[in-house]
Amino acid sequence: MSTFQAPKGTYDLIPPDSARFLAVREAIAAPLKRSGYGYIETPGFENVELFARGVGESTDIVTKEMYAFETKGGDRLALRPEGTASVLRAALEANLHKAGNLPVKLWYSGSYYRYERPQKGRYRHFSQVGAEAIGAEDPALDAELIVLANDAYRSLGLRNFRILLNSLGDKECRPVYRAALQDFLRGLDLDEDTLRRAEINPLRVLDDKREAVQKQLAGAPLLRDYLCDACKAYHEEVRDLLTAQGVAFEDDGRLVRGLDYYTRTTFEFVHDGLGSQSAVGGGGRYDGLSEMIGGPALPSVGWALGVDRTVLALEAEGVTLELPSTTSVFAVPLGEEARRVLFTKVMELRRAGIAADFAFGGKGLKGAMKNANRSGARFTLVAGERDLAEGVVQLKDMESGEQGPVALDAIVDAVRERLA
Ligand code: AMP
Repeated sequence: MSTFQAPKGTYDLIPPDSARFLAVREAIAAPLKRSGYGYIETPGFENVELFARGVGESTDIVTKEMYAFETKGGDRLALRPEGTASVLRAALEANLHKAGNLPVKLWYSGSYYRYERPQKGRYRHFSQVGAEAIGAEDPALDAELIVLANDAYRSLGLRNFRILLNSLGDKECRPVYRAALQDFLRGLDLDEDTLRRAEINPLRVLDDKREAVQKQLAGAPLLRDYLCDACKAYHEEVRDLLTAQGVAFEDDGRLVRGLDYYTRTTFEFVHDGLGSQSAVGGGGRYDGLSEMIGGPALPSVGWALGVDRTVLALEAEGVTLELPSTTSVFAVPLGEEARRVLFTKVMELRRAGIAADFAFGGKGLKGAMKNANRSGARFTLVAGERDLAEGVVQLKDMESGEQGPVALDAIVDAVRERLA
């Protein structure tokens, strides 16, 4: 161990477990790649104002959890706590919305930072794969994204997750609801902090996890009873489209999510095997966000799925991913000449697309075979002076134990044939 450890609330991804993270990222991205979403990468930090305006001044993310700092040059920056504001900022900056091809569909994968109280499933550095569809108001787009997340989780073998669905209304109906909710909240016995929150952002109070608060909220007005006709029709259409695709969901009139930019459709994927940090992913429509950050009106919808929690959910369900073995062939040379010959053969195998590795470090047969076993390779290639004199190497199947000579120039074909 060195003098240093990973900072609090973070952890390292290390082989072999790191392979599962990669596989999860790839599985989430796969449905997006075949649905017209293009890959976008934005910086790990942005102007702090982007998040303050985009995510919301009164949200926990902005007030308590953001890694905000001033650079030596005097810029006020923040490590990104989420992806949507950055992606929209980048799309606007590159004028993607003016290319005459709306919606602009983008996906991303990366690290996010929130100064949270760490616990299982909640970290200060975590990983998300996300998708955004920018510049179209179409219930089919909302449905598409929910279906794609559902497909991604199913392709991984996850089963015990639920989809919670709600509509947060729009700028027509939400203010009416907001006022009604505020009236209701003012009549409750709440602490000062919560009362203040009720004045700034009353919907967020619905999200309060404390039991004493939840009890009082039992009779709170629900947004669904206040939706205007347009929002109601929109939401019905999203629900119908999901049902037609065989995607089960639960209506959750209390689902508000922790970010201020959402309008209309909001949803969350929750997994029942994860305890208190049960949300594995979430998203929704954010029709006003573009204008909030100085852009034109661009109705949009998106989601982000947490890679860390998805891996925990797979563990909770006991799902083991079918990961291809990292090494198919392990070469064990006996002697200097064999080293040179087998090193070349390993390069040939790799160029032929076969994962191969080599006993580095000049160890003896016993140590080298131990490495071969640890590598998980299906085959070993062993060669000594006598083999080389005959123009062969010994190819051993580590599963069956079978072993036999193969001509030097036939190795790639022999391995390929046996692996198929
Ligand atoms: P949010 O936008 O906050 O709903 O985050 C979307 C997803 O990212 C969540 O459903 C989690 O899976 C994941 N996530 C958010 N915050 C954290 C965190 N602190 N640690 C691990 N995963 C997180």
